[in-house]
Amino acid sequence: MNPLARHLRRVIELEGPISVAAFMDAALSDPDHGYYRTRDPLGRAGDFTTAPEVSQMFGELVGLWAAVAWRQLGAPDPVDLIELGPGRGTLMKDALRAIEGVPDFRNALRVHFVETSPALTIKQAASLKGSGHAPEWHESLEAVPPGPFVLIANEFFDALPIRQFVKTGDVWRERLVGLGDGGFGFVMGDICEAEFPDAEDGAIFEVNEGANRTVAEIARRIAVHGGVALIVDYGHMGGVGETLQSVKGHVFHPPLLDPGEADLTAHVDFRALIGAATAAGAAAYGPLPQGAFLERIGLAHRAAKLKEKAPPESRLAIELARVRLADPQAMGALFKVLALAPKEAAPPPGF
Ligand code: SAH
Repeated sequence: MNPLARHLRRVIELEGPISVAAFMDAALSDPDHGYYRTRDPLGRAGDFTTAPEVSQMFGELVGLWAAVAWRQLGAPDPVDLIELGPGRGTLMKDALRAIEGVPDFRNALRVHFVETSPALTIKQAASLKGSGHAPEWHESLEAVPPGPFVLIANEFFDALPIRQFVKTGDVWRERLVGLGDGGFGFVMGDICEAEFPDAEDGAIFEVNEGANRTVAEIARRIAVHGGVALIVDYGHMGGVGETLQSVKGHVFHPPLLDPGEADLTAHVDFRALIGAATAAGAAAYGPLPQGAFLERIGLAHRAAKLKEKAPPESRLAIELARVRLADPQAMGALFKVLALAPKEAAPPPGF
């Protein structure tokens, strides 16, 4: 048993079972042993690969999207280009390179990273070295100074802790993490209010309070200061179903095993995010399947241009990356793209 597991075990012995959210929060963000605090999980040598790590085309297209979205906002100067959970900083690096072709946006923007991982902060600084932009780091969106903004979040919301509820007989109960034989196991907590009265016995319903809160904050800032947001993640349109998952070394892993040593995520409930955004005063667009969105903002064109310039031996890799990002069998359909914009504004580019 690793040190974080021993610590959680003691907590549960002393205070009783903890929520799935508390378990997830400790596994991902414990200051000493949390998964994101201690390592770079991305890439072939890590545990999972994200769209910006698949191909430079992803960040470039998102950068150009940001430029067009900024113009639709009335080209505010200065403007904050905010990224939530920037990973290695690859998306931003590629986006800023594409934005070099849009000098008025390039000169107006200030980069803000919302990141809690010291290990990844170092990588982000290295990625942006030589970009001509000096990012500012913040622990949360609330800490970013208010003002007009363009916000990007790729695979950020799936990393925020969820609570789970289980239908047991006629009622919903919170699903908690207690002690099982030798390790952790799920146990039932108190009766809770929940939607879906007709759900089957044993059905699971998930709530991501942190995600809903963050999206409400984005929407509030859009309504007050003007702004636009692009949220990309794997997810669904609400309803019952368990999506808590753990991945280690690119294969699925039991979620309660080895906390802090494996990635632990949940699919994003886009219906809940849209509800939180519209209640807080923004308009929501989508979600569109990632493949359709990328095609609309020029993926095929960008891939063709890159192939033209690439040596023959690299052309196949560019084509394979395009397919991986856009094909419904790969990342094109599971991943979805939601945009938030001011209420009376035109739809953001691609929507
Ligand atoms: N967007 C990147 C990385 C995705 S991994 C990419 O697409 O490659 C999730 C990112 O969110 C990591 O950078 C992680 O450190 C960060 N993160 C996770 N939980 C966070 C939190 N509560 N606050 C801020 N950043 C967080």
